[in-house]
Amino acid sequence: LKDKFQSSIVNTVFYPLFVKAGAFYSTDECIECGLCETLCPLHNIQIKDHRPVWGKECTHCMACIARCPKKAIEYGKKSIGKNRYYID
Ligand code: SF4
Ligand code: SF4
Repeated sequence: LKDKFQSSIVNTVFYPLFVKAGAFYSTDECIECGLCETLCPLHNIQIKDHRPVWGKECTHCMACIARCPKKAIEYGKKSIGKNRYYID
């Protein structure tokens, strides 16, 4: 019961307040490969006019930003200049 209660707090408070995709954007390094659209487990990315557009269903898994082959995805100013990595 305690775990269920804690999960409900995370789902109702943490996610809406802190887990947002609005800060994602692609830079001019984007080669329009579409990989980010394919990778997103929540289908939250769509390629429109050859560039990725993020929706509102993000879980911050970081698959898109970490695996973009051109490091062309940024999250606001926080990700600029930071390393990208992922575990296969
Ligand atoms: S994975 Fe990177 S290069 Fe490919 S479409 Fe997405 S942002 Fe552009
Ligand atoms: S962080 Fe994960 S869930 Fe969010 S848009 Fe990128 S791939 Fe999708």
